[in-house]
Amino acid sequence: MEKNLYQREYQRKRKQEAIKQYGGKCHYCGENRWELLNFQTKEKPENKIQMYNWLKKKGWPKAKLICQNCNRLGCGRKAVKLGR
Ligand SMILES: [Zn+2]
Repeated sequence: MEKNLYQREYQRKRKQEAIKQYGGKCHYCGENRWELLNFQTKEKPENKIQMYNWLKKKGWPKAKLICQNCNRLGCGRKAVKLGR
């Protein structure tokens, strides 16, 4: 249990570090809560858990931040700006 918590904390730090590298907010709507943000990249690591380390190892390749709302609404494809 404790180990789990430690790993989650580690992942959180990695993710926040990576998000900072990409401007800290959703490319489409400006959402800046890191919990909701994900990365859109051309390439992807085999293991999704490795995403943040992978980005770092690749020297922060071109990627966009997208939040869960935009992801669900397909803004990543249509590039629609939400009214918020
Ligand atoms: Zn968004």
